[in-house]
Amino acid sequence: MQIHDTIAGLRAALKNAGRVALVPTMGNLHEGHISLMEQARSHGDAVVASIFVNRLQFRPGEDFEKYPRTFQADCDKLIAAGVDHLFAPVETEMYPRPQGYTVAVPKEQDGILEGEFRPGHFNGMATVVMKLFQIVQPDTALFGKKDYQQLMVIRNMVQDLNLPIHIIGGETIRAADGLALSSRNGYLSPDQRREAPRLFETLTKVVDALRHGNIDFPALERDAAIQLRNNQWQPDYVAIRKKSDLQLPAAHDSGLVVLAAARLGSTRLIDNLEV
Ligand code: AMP
Repeated sequence: MQIHDTIAGLRAALKNAGRVALVPTMGNLHEGHISLMEQARSHGDAVVASIFVNRLQFRPGEDFEKYPRTFQADCDKLIAAGVDHLFAPVETEMYPRPQGYTVAVPKEQDGILEGEFRPGHFNGMATVVMKLFQIVQPDTALFGKKDYQQLMVIRNMVQDLNLPIHIIGGETIRAADGLALSSRNGYLSPDQRREAPRLFETLTKVVDALRHGNIDFPALERDAAIQLRNNQWQPDYVAIRKKSDLQLPAAHDSGLVVLAAARLGSTRLIDNLEV
């Protein structure tokens, strides 16, 4: 695997690389990331991973400083997964001056769910993904459904800005007990880690109820949030939405997804399940 810390070096290496498939990450890699790398193989002659903890998408008081940085272990995993190129820039390579031009995510996406609770997060994320797209110029880019709204924002950005990039959404990879793999799981104490699968279990119950024809969405959302609260969680939201645009569904809409974000102690976890 070639490791590049400059834009010029990466671009030179990709000049005659054929079709390029990109998997952007913030590092601290786990099986969820690796499954995207493996899927990338079938979409590119060259598979490019990026590792960059993007300050722009963290709010003041969030975990930018303490976000786990495990570069050597990440490299070992990427090599084992057969990744061809790693782009791992330092901050001044990506942001040599304050980022003046940015991507503004429209309100109907930025103002709901994660966007409501993490104002500015999607603008920061979309801006760095746009920069990575310009730097790598991939034919295909892969993102996880674990971050469902992020995937939707990127799909819409690519469509509205006519980017010639094929976006692929990878399924969420889970631990044996159902907990969606996440770099933030490492913040959990042993007790919290034992409690953490309740988020997935709660979503599963809502999905089961929907599949059995229950269409009282507000009651389902409320009961799920209560279940979490009763077990020491602080939910930001449990929301039943349309898969297509994450807006509120009408009673008999199909194509639904249930999304949740909740804090366990000081760790904020998100998860979702398609119905
Ligand atoms: P991150 O490093 O958290 O920014 O994630 C990088 C990419 O991996 C994003 O597209 C995520 O959606 C994806 N990802 C994170 N966790 C998982 C998971 N458990 N299963 C599948 N994809 C994931």
